[in-house]
Amino acid sequence: MFTKILIANRGEIACRVIKTARRLGIRTVAVYSEADANARHVRLADEAVLLGPAAARESYLVGEKILDAARRTGAQAIHPGYGFLSENEEFAEACAAHGVVFIGPPASAIRAMGSKSEAKKLMGAAQVPLTPGYHGDDQDPALLHKEADGIGYPVLIKAAAGGGGKGMRLVEKSGDFPEALASCKREAISSFGDDHVLIEKYITRPRHIEIQVFADSHGNCVYLFERDCSVQRRHQKVLEEAPAPGMTAARRREMGQAAVAAAKAVGYVGAGTVEFIANQDGSFYFMEMNTRLQVEHPVTEMITGQDLVEWQLRVAAGQPLPLAQDALAIRGHALEARIYAEDADKGFLPSTGRLVSLAPPAESLNVRVDTGVEEGDEISPYYDPMIAKLIVWDEHRDAALARMRKALADYRVAGVTTNLAFLSRLVACPAFAGADLDTGLIERQKDFLFPAAQAVPRDVLLVAAVGELLWEQRAAKDAARASGDPWSPWHARDGWRMNLSAARTLGFRDGEGLVEVQVGYARDAWQLTANGQTTLTRGKKLEDDRFAVELDDRRLIASVVAVDDKRHVFLHGATHVLFRDDPLHLVEAGGNTGGGLTAPMPGKVVALLAQPGQKVDKGAPLLILEAMKMEHTITAPAAGTVEAFCYAAGEQVSDGAALVEFTAD
Ligand code: ADP
Ligand code: ADP
Ligand code: MG
Repeated sequence: MFTKILIANRGEIACRVIKTARRLGIRTVAVYSEADANARHVRLADEAVLLGPAAARESYLVGEKILDAARRTGAQAIHPGYGFLSENEEFAEACAAHGVVFIGPPASAIRAMGSKSEAKKLMGAAQVPLTPGYHGDDQDPALLHKEADGIGYPVLIKAAAGGGGKGMRLVEKSGDFPEALASCKREAISSFGDDHVLIEKYITRPRHIEIQVFADSHGNCVYLFERDCSVQRRHQKVLEEAPAPGMTAARRREMGQAAVAAAKAVGYVGAGTVEFIANQDGSFYFMEMNTRLQVEHPVTEMITGQDLVEWQLRVAAGQPLPLAQDALAIRGHALEARIYAEDADKGFLPSTGRLVSLAPPAESLNVRVDTGVEEGDEISPYYDPMIAKLIVWDEHRDAALARMRKALADYRVAGVTTNLAFLSRLVACPAFAGADLDTGLIERQKDFLFPAAQAVPRDVLLVAAVGELLWEQRAAKDAARASGDPWSPWHARDGWRMNLSAARTLGFRDGEGLVEVQVGYARDAWQLTANGQTTLTRGKKLEDDRFAVELDDRRLIASVVAVDDKRHVFLHGATHVLFRDDPLHLVEAGGNTGGGLTAPMPGKVVALLAQPGQKVDKGAPLLILEAMKMEHTITAPAAGTVEAFCYAAGEQVSDGAALVEFTAD
């Protein structure tokens, strides 16, 4: 076995490989780009080598730099993960030329499966059932058109070199073929540098079922059963599970044997996946083979109890497969959800930013979280915006589904937009829960999955208001401590100085609309009025961002995470994003205007521009805050009196800290 390996990847998969290597006592070398200098995979590895700038083509895709890093660190083998160089036959060859083991199949197998058309030719010869279609060399547009007419519409035009759901065009009728072909070829050239296409009969309501295979260099090859990856958006997998619902033992054996035949036909060694497209009646056709570890491999690990990375390392070191076919069995059911920084409601647009708050559900034998990021890390625009893979296991599908619902509800992310709410709806949707699966599920269920924006639930508004009030109390206490006069009435934020009619309004924006909560102060509680109804409310801060809220006779636990004017409210397993209406947190009291002016971002007070007690006009500069290398002037929100400054010049303030006590005329 190797004593040191290099992982030519980043993110969750690099961390995943490191975990197994560490368990086996193998030292690990990470590689990283400038954007990843502080990334989790770099922190986890025993050593790390900088490759170059953030762009993958200048770092993670530069084979020579990676081989050089392996040479310098004495790594004996390279694990390519998925994506990047994992299916690059030149890189696999270069590894061999440099005397480093490529932890993957032989270059010849990568080449054989690299082109979807070449692969289909080989598979046809090996008696593997093929999707009806044309995969010949002649690329004459007129001939392709004639072939498509012969197959019968709808057809799918696919880039032979395609991947990741790219380079595919659905053609509904003959008249649309020429335009679709031209556009498919344009995308194929720009994305894959090769405009060779094939044409397939478009299967309606198909399921994507793939078989995990494993071969060693001693002639053994087994299948580790199937994964159902039918839940897709834009031909990309979103949710995967194993075993496939409705699979019979006979069909499983048939598909497993076809996959093993496919692997043997190309002299396969290592982990691979044979993807099939299946009709609702269970009949199936070969689609393509992915010659690497798949993103969704954990569901297979959960149902077989095997560590596929350990298998990869053993096989690459020349050992035989750990288990024979008849020693492998399925136990229970596993589901995986891909948690992305993306906005599902805006066409799955990627979202970038800092993970201001990140709290995954607790891991256990039933819940596994594979991730490459931690709280405070950045989701950058350079790489895939995946935050984590959430994997759950239980004895049967319904129990696993319940675990998934709970785990998704417990997952808290603030700072970037995520697909968590979308995934929660997905696992709750009757079609998915009832295993009525096909690749069009998301499209078919779109009314359920993309509901029209709803008014903010009243409890969420109340919780958001309590968040503001608790936070203000805290800020006032901090300010009092900082001022050295903890008893000054000017530091109190409980409204006592606003007379008996003390009342104020907290405004939140929810998308377009402004929603308001009126705050009245009682002796030890707030009277919050929202949607015309008043609730006696108390709040108590717990650890982190969590607090306990009492609403009349109900008690809730909630969290609010503030990022600029955004308020992420986590309540009952859902995240609601509201915006504080006034970025300066100007608050208003009945008749009187008063309250505090707060820092819009963390920074340093550089100058106080008024005297305590001074009367000023609306817009008068009160204080200068330096933040993010810029100066921000905090001005009087109305004509009134500066009661006190909460900080002296030179002091550091946190985001949202109260800066000035101010009473408007
Ligand atoms: P990629 O290399 O991008 O993964 P695949 O050939 O594996 O391309 O296809 C990706 C997805 O496109 C499949 O999972 C399936 O949803 C859909 N698809 C592919 N071929 C067909 C087909 N012949 N009919 C219907 N859907 C298909
Ligand atoms: P600490 O600085 O010790 O964590 P707190 O937890 O009381 O103190 O809160 C400070 C942080 O709370 C600030 O960094 C700010 O981002 C955040 N914050 C601001 N407004 C709110 C709010 N309404 N609810 C929850 N947190 C808030
Ligand atoms: Mg595929």
